[in-house]
Amino acid sequence: MKRIVILGGGESGAGAAVLAHKQGFDVFLSDSSAIKPRYKEWLDKYSIRWEEGKHTEELILNADEVIKSPGIPDKAPLIVKIREKAIPIISEIEFAGRYTNAYTVCITGSNGKTTTTSLIYHMMQKAGLNVGLAGNIGNSFAYQVAENNFDYYVIELSSFQLDGVYEFKPDIAILLNITPDHLDRYDYKMQNYVESKFRITKNLSEDDCFIFCSDDAVTIEQLKRIVLRAQQLPFSIRSKDNQTSWIENEHLFINYDDSDFCMSINELSLKGKHNIYNSMAAGIAGHVLNIRKEVIRESLSDFQGVEHRLEPILTIKGVKYINDSKATNVNSTWYALESMDTPVVWIVGGVDKGNDYSELMDLVKAKVKAIVCLGVDNAKLHKAFGDVISVMVDARSAEEAVQQAYKLASPGDAVLLSPACASFDLFDNYEDRGRKFKAAVREL
Ligand code: ADP
Repeated sequence: MKRIVILGGGESGAGAAVLAHKQGFDVFLSDSSAIKPRYKEWLDKYSIRWEEGKHTEELILNADEVIKSPGIPDKAPLIVKIREKAIPIISEIEFAGRYTNAYTVCITGSNGKTTTTSLIYHMMQKAGLNVGLAGNIGNSFAYQVAENNFDYYVIELSSFQLDGVYEFKPDIAILLNITPDHLDRYDYKMQNYVESKFRITKNLSEDDCFIFCSDDAVTIEQLKRIVLRAQQLPFSIRSKDNQTSWIENEHLFINYDDSDFCMSINELSLKGKHNIYNSMAAGIAGHVLNIRKEVIRESLSDFQGVEHRLEPILTIKGVKYINDSKATNVNSTWYALESMDTPVVWIVGGVDKGNDYSELMDLVKAKVKAIVCLGVDNAKLHKAFGDVISVMVDARSAEEAVQQAYKLASPGDAVLLSPACASFDLFDNYEDRGRKFKAAVREL
């Protein structure tokens, strides 16, 4: 019997274990940390063997194939050993893809994946399709392939998940953008990261579609280097030439198969330039899926957004409070500031992944009236903005940041939490940061 070893007992690992078990493999799951009770229940329900808090090499290096959690870096000593033994290492996405014929819409990019994936899922549900939401959101792809019977999947794919993909083929692949992120996992070489993102196109055939942003210079450069057989469906807000979707006179147009879709950008429920891109990508996917225009239009105008992504919380004494805790890099904060149409009290800071704040300078000068630094070490922020913003204060907790911002804001302003940094210095994760921020606002 073929032996499958799964490394990492989170959502994707536990899901892969259930699927592998149901497919009749000899399965063993190993996690170097503690496994959450919910996942232990899944494993125990099927009597799948597992260990936590260690990796027992004798039980791992005898695998025929290893499914690795995307969180484990290639440099981890155990992974190096597995490779030395020439045992194939794949991702949960690759594994699950073998056991379903469902139609797949896959979304990758440095920013906007969760938003766009959720938006497309919303549209497909409205269209009455039997669709599952997978990848980094909800239940893993593998778990759903094992336990559900969907005709379609919308799957969010990170570069780490794509690294373990070999034969898996989306029917529609969407690449939103490529800006530097996670370079520590790619030998600090941008080209490695670009190639990882482009693995989403690797197995596309003439019948498949590749939806991408032609305003993204990195994407366009890479497209010149590769041979792509799929139908190319570009979108742009800068140009209308040869685009499948473009903007003209404040309207979003889509021309796919001679359709003449048009809607005012004021009708889009998601605000900001970045969300125009996300809406264009979703709208094109809707056309390829043959969803009725009215349903596409309705979905783009009534989608409620995703928590922690430019999420409006409350307006208090004429001041709007907005939670963009998911903005963990400079690029996503750039789009958040860009979308603001009032003066901003900006809450920023945390664990900096090598940020270059000069990219934000023009927007900060134009829109930000005061800065609240929310981090253990705020020195770099003071250095970057101290000369241009006269009011800069420090805070060590979400409550303190909200209190400070409350004092600094006047009616008509917005208080924006868009940290451009990871959260691990003061919070468990970006969700924890966002929830504490929201709770503090509701206490005002
Ligand atoms: P991801 O899943 O790729 O991390 P999210 O949809 O969770 O993306 O959004 C992450 C952050 O990036 C949020 O702050 C959001 O406002 C911002 N964002 C969303 N879409 C885009 C985009 N197309 N380009 C740049 N930033 C974006």
